[in-house]
Amino acid sequence: MEKRKSRIIYGPILSRRLGRSLGIDVIHRSSSRKNCNFDCVYCQLGHVDKKISSPEEVKGLVSCTEVVDGIEHYHRNIDDIDYITFSGTCEPTLNLGLGDMITEVKKLINVPVCVITNSSLMGRKDVRENLANADLVVATLVSGNEKTFKAINRPASGINLHDIIEGLRELKKSGGPKLAIEVMLLDSNSGYPTNSSDQEVDKLIEVLKFINPDEIEILTISRPPAEDFIVPVSENRLKEIAQKFDEEFGRKRVRLVLKGIKRKRSTIKHENLIEEVYDLILRRPCTFAQIGQSLDIDEDDLFPIIKGLVDGGKIVRVNSGNDSYYRAT
Ligand code: SF4
Repeated sequence: MEKRKSRIIYGPILSRRLGRSLGIDVIHRSSSRKNCNFDCVYCQLGHVDKKISSPEEVKGLVSCTEVVDGIEHYHRNIDDIDYITFSGTCEPTLNLGLGDMITEVKKLINVPVCVITNSSLMGRKDVRENLANADLVVATLVSGNEKTFKAINRPASGINLHDIIEGLRELKKSGGPKLAIEVMLLDSNSGYPTNSSDQEVDKLIEVLKFINPDEIEILTISRPPAEDFIVPVSENRLKEIAQKFDEEFGRKRVRLVLKGIKRKRSTIKHENLIEEVYDLILRRPCTFAQIGQSLDIDEDDLFPIIKGLVDGGKIVRVNSGNDSYYRAT
């Protein structure tokens, strides 16, 4: 496949929570596949080559003009998207132009805007202000204990859980975007600190009561994690934990996510299927079926594309549990 400049707009991608969404990367991909200030043990993109410690040191920032041009171009080909989503291979709040981008995108297209964040910079007022015009913020929180947070998220120096919790509460109190907290639960096969014990769950509940989010989503890993010693939480244990959350927050606010997404009728017009498949796999490892579902491609059309990408050394097949995933090299 010919070398090309990284695309900042990708999708549409089908997901449980957001339906059909068009994704936006706000940092250009460089030699490293992801730009992040965390190095989570469960990350589906593998290790961070070099952790970014603050927005001020990010290179390759996407400009507001690039986002507007990209959306104008893509929007012509899409007739029924449910969300515009800022996420991708980087932590979107690391781009301090995010607030302007959200404002401009909303002028262009009448579709709700979602920001998916690792919560790392919630302690910063300028970052929270950048999120004010979003319709939905989906923020990850793995623990109420500083030690466990550091073991799981492995943040860049200077990032602490106390500031994140205070910041999330401020964001919710601001009356701006709807706030959904994604609680990623993990187990370990080697005694590594994780967050699915009763003690951890109780502390998470305490902290979530303080933050008071609109929604809480409980899930576990479903793709190969960065570390071999991290394993998914069993379905029974997830259900037990969800029950506890239901009792504390009410069923309406708590969503338990088990494997699988529901297919929705699609009208995607593809421009370059090979690039779209590669872009999807770059952002998250997927099974053959997940690629077909996310991009609405028939098996017969997808097979030669996957073969070409594997033969060209762009992607590899990796096994995790009972499933085989394709991951970018
Ligand atoms: S899971 Fe997300 S926040 Fe964690 S290292 Fe990967 S990209 Fe960064």
